[in-house]
Amino acid sequence: MIDIKIVNGKLLDMDEHRLIETDLGIKDGKIEKIGPIEEEAKIVLDAEGAIVSPGFIDIHMHEEELHLTEDGTDISIPMLRMGVTTAVTGNCGNNRQDIRALRDVIEKRGNPVHYMSYVGHNSLREKAGNLTTLEPSTPEQIEVMRQLVNENIEDGAIGVSFGFEYSPGTSMEEIIGVTQDIRDRKDLLLSAHYRFDADRALESIEEMAEITRRTGIPFQIAHISSLSAFGNMQEALDMIVRLREEEGLDLMVDAYPYAAFSTRIGTEVFAPGCFERWGKTYSDILLTEPPYEDQPATKETFEDARKNYPEMLAVASVMREDEIVLALQHPLVMVASDGIYRNHKGHPRGAGTFPRFIGKYLRDDKILDFFEGMKKITRMPAERLHLKNKGEIKEGYDADLTLFHYDTIIDKADFGSTSQEPPEGIEAVIVDGRLALHKGKLLDTKAGKYLTRR
Ligand SMILES: [Zn+2]
Repeated sequence: MIDIKIVNGKLLDMDEHRLIETDLGIKDGKIEKIGPIEEEAKIVLDAEGAIVSPGFIDIHMHEEELHLTEDGTDISIPMLRMGVTTAVTGNCGNNRQDIRALRDVIEKRGNPVHYMSYVGHNSLREKAGNLTTLEPSTPEQIEVMRQLVNENIEDGAIGVSFGFEYSPGTSMEEIIGVTQDIRDRKDLLLSAHYRFDADRALESIEEMAEITRRTGIPFQIAHISSLSAFGNMQEALDMIVRLREEEGLDLMVDAYPYAAFSTRIGTEVFAPGCFERWGKTYSDILLTEPPYEDQPATKETFEDARKNYPEMLAVASVMREDEIVLALQHPLVMVASDGIYRNHKGHPRGAGTFPRFIGKYLRDDKILDFFEGMKKITRMPAERLHLKNKGEIKEGYDADLTLFHYDTIIDKADFGSTSQEPPEGIEAVIVDGRLALHKGKLLDTKAGKYLTRR
């Protein structure tokens, strides 16, 4: 007896660029069989014509702060609802709690989706006693961080994330110092939220290239849409291609499909000069929490929020749509949400990225071949993360699957009060061989595991 038999589905075959109409059998968390299945199953899942895809893999998002919500889940639920089965936390230099604490909680209670995590450099800076953002760390502090990096990598973290824009005091010596013991490790990843955006984006990419040269560790350039969609996206992408071809640097990129970004209002991102750089103004910033919930900022509320509510998430509608498309089309770019919420509030990308990419960009706007597009949310991130048993529909692979209706899939989350609105068109999601979501109903929110680097 197998656990689940999926019938009436169209299996996504990314090798041959075709959909295969046949059954899929699941047993003990694995895809046991592809083809006509006579064997009895505990659950027969009628896909009703849906495409059966590998579960989406989100290589760049931000985990919840466990203590902020009653049951300790926030973004992981909208992740599951939009078809994500594996998500990478701890990005942009920031762990919202110790990754050991995150891991312990997930190992004890399970999680809606699988998590894996970077160790965040800015969080380590705080632990090492550098409580500033503008000051470089001392040699003693760098030494503490180096050891913490080693401990966290030993403990299964996938690599180190940086957030230079958030801690501009970070020097190259500091970066090289904290990573010196993991040099040339091809099984790890570095990633970074750039130091400067817009007119200084290329300078930021050069810094990331220099880190790759000096550390020898593969590098993930985070959310290029919020780095370069201000007039120099093509140059940025060309530069990354050149760095790879001429120097052999292992640089890859992710992007989210929105022309607005979101981060904490109190950070350096919104330091004086930002509006001049973006060519935008206060009213392009949406505040998301009381006392300014869902209000476009004014000079007064913007400054008050920065001073008195620095942790409040703000949404900045400042990027160019045509350049978002350039990024999404590029072969080095995978799609990731960069989703982040506080108390269920924030940017809708945390609940809509993947349905939006498929429904708006692949189906409606046809910016890319469907199968090439699907690789960007399944196979590509799986390979980048060395997830050898995920990202494909193949016998023996992990049974992380997302069933969606291509003709109706679309995001419904929007800025403001509907930022976690579930998408349409997701028929079912299977996590680790367990039916987690079916027709919009959450059936199992504990199937996800904390995955350590293997
Ligand atoms: Zn970031």
